[in-house]
Amino acid sequence: MDVKKKRFGRDNAENSLVIRLKDLSVNEAEYRGTFLNAWLVTELGQAPVKPKPGAELAVILRASKQETTVLISGEMTTDLVATCSRCLSDYPFPVKSELSFVLIPKSDLLLAKKKVDETDGAVVETEASQEDTYTGGSIDPTPLIREQLLLLLPEYPVCRPDCKGLCAGCGRDLNSDACVCAPKNFDSPFAALKKLKLN
Ligand SMILES: [Zn+2]
Ligand SMILES: [Zn+2]
Repeated sequence: MDVKKKRFGRDNAENSLVIRLKDLSVNEAEYRGTFLNAWLVTELGQAPVKPKPGAELAVILRASKQETTVLISGEMTTDLVATCSRCLSDYPFPVKSELSFVLIPKSDLLLAKKKVDETDGAVVETEASQEDTYTGGSIDPTPLIREQLLLLLPEYPVCRPDCKGLCAGCGRDLNSDACVCAPKNFDSPFAALKKLKLN
């Protein structure tokens, strides 16, 4: 197996991961790389899930080519920290995810779309429209990896399914503390009765 070891990341353009088509064949070539912590910090941005201090994203890709179709599979792993949307506490969010991409030349996709248009106008979901495309002689899988990573992140992370969250009144963490809100005059029959008695 043709093993290419590379270190890459947005903050180091020279080492960005590039898969050259001329290096690919029907046999898989393996690429290993690391997206640096700075890249993760930038890409996760305002998401409620952040990289652990110093954590990097490790990626292993196996790429092969059949005619003009490029098949990429592999996995990515990293250590993230999520902030619970209910109690605001941080909890570990390890990522270990399979990657699988099929890329066809952009020109082939345009051709496939045109064929659909020339039929009676019925909406036909072609296989090609499900695939990613490439142009030129090389593929940078960074956008594909970024998209897969962002898809894994919950919009509203929850530290555990039964997290009770913070009290909206006193702000106490109801998982560990009791609410200390002052009792209010609820509209209960007893409260109404008390008022009557006082009058
Ligand atoms: Zn929580
Ligand atoms: Zn409270």
